[in-house]
Amino acid sequence: MINRSIRFKIIFWFVLSVAAILLCFGFLVYSNVRADLYNDVDDILELKAQGVVDYISGYWKAKNPHSDAVFVKNFGADFVESAESWVETMPEDLELADIKVTLYDTNGVTVAASQNAYAHARLPREFLDKALRGKSLFYSLARNVSATGLERRRMLIVPFKAAGKVIYLVGVEKPLNFTDVTLWRLRSSMISFFIISLALVFFTGFFLSRVILKPLERIVETMRRITSRNLSERIDNSGPRDEIGRLSDTFNHMLSELEKSFFAQKRIVEDVSHELRTPLTIIRGEMEVALKRVRSSEEYKSVMTSSLEEVNRISRIVEHLLLLARFDSHAVKLSFERISLSDLVEDILGDINVLARQKTLSVRLAVEEDVFINADRLNLRRAILNILDNAVKYTNEGGSIAVTLFKDAAGAVLVVKDTGIGIAQDDLGKIFDRFYRADSSRSKQGFGLGLSLAGTIFNAHSARISVSSKLKEGTTVTVFFPPA
Ligand code: ADP
Repeated sequence: MINRSIRFKIIFWFVLSVAAILLCFGFLVYSNVRADLYNDVDDILELKAQGVVDYISGYWKAKNPHSDAVFVKNFGADFVESAESWVETMPEDLELADIKVTLYDTNGVTVAASQNAYAHARLPREFLDKALRGKSLFYSLARNVSATGLERRRMLIVPFKAAGKVIYLVGVEKPLNFTDVTLWRLRSSMISFFIISLALVFFTGFFLSRVILKPLERIVETMRRITSRNLSERIDNSGPRDEIGRLSDTFNHMLSELEKSFFAQKRIVEDVSHELRTPLTIIRGEMEVALKRVRSSEEYKSVMTSSLEEVNRISRIVEHLLLLARFDSHAVKLSFERISLSDLVEDILGDINVLARQKTLSVRLAVEEDVFINADRLNLRRAILNILDNAVKYTNEGGSIAVTLFKDAAGAVLVVKDTGIGIAQDDLGKIFDRFYRADSSRSKQGFGLGLSLAGTIFNAHSARISVSSKLKEGTTVTVFFPPA
């Protein structure tokens, strides 16, 4: 079910891609906000540390309004004494900003600290060394406070220098509770948002896929109903011209093609059986009669001659059908070469003249020399022969046939004009159909496959055939060949 359902796939990929987008987006937002919040804390600490340093040096200078040298000299001695009072009288805004101050001497020992300051009794060595080299340094500390759990603080140690020498260190610290809580809230809101969004996306995908796939299900339903017995059924494509609409059109088109070829095949089977039945009945009848009693050899010969005629007819039908079928399935490989159409037409007329003479038909020729085309000689010969054979077949004794071949701008044109029985307008559109014979010619020898085969062969040569005719006046068949 999971593997087979497009719906599941749509929902799965939809949810997965939205989850990936949300995760990337959330990660970016969270890390930016986090960096901003911590930077803000560091900025405040820096600002406040500078304030403390300014405050202390102001205080000291007021007390010792001497030179810098005296200031440095006295500093060490009086430092411890004054430190307590500095810390106690720290400016108020430090309290508001939740900042605690600790003062260290150059050995890293705490000299004075504000209340609740998270002071080290002694500044760890690595921090002290760095600070004594004159560099400010930031670091974060965490300690376990039983009531509130882990408490994190951010610290900044700023060395105070006078006359190029570090004389004490100012430590400012700020609890990170607020920042951590803010980040924690952001995290939980983002997680809730993520879960809710995914749920929403899941349901949206669920309903969207249902709406989108509904017409597809209708198509499947209809297709399931279609069998060879109701090939005329079509998918309802009255909806919008979207991909599904186009899919329905394509299916309907395919069904029409299938229906057409199905009926064509059916008709061919019917026609073939019908065509073969007559000669087979004749053969059977004659043989049955012949076998009723002993016959003379003359009688047997006559039966066999007439049977042979019918057998020949059957084999001609089968041969034509086979060829048509091979053309249909593209099994015929045409070998194109540049040939002289003029020579080919004259050559075919050599054969046709024999038949024409038997029917006392006059054949007029107007064949332009050196008309060349690209063609498969053998098959083209067969096609042109069928056209000329029809002209002879459907022209009564004493009639005439005119064959013209000439070059024109678009290639070459072959015209076969006869003064025969003609074709009714209603039949004209059907004479290329397999086994189609116009009523007027039913009695003649043909079996309705010649033009169909000729049409297929001309088609394979990219040549176009057109037939115009008038009943009882004659027929003109024109074939337009593309240039070589
Ligand atoms: P057939 O073997 O019956 O001649 P074709 O496929 O060659 O089959 O032709 C189909 C039908 O077209 C013929 O039965 C005939 O009715 C008509 N037809 C073709 N050529 C001519 C023509 N030159 N004059 C009159 N009718 C023609």
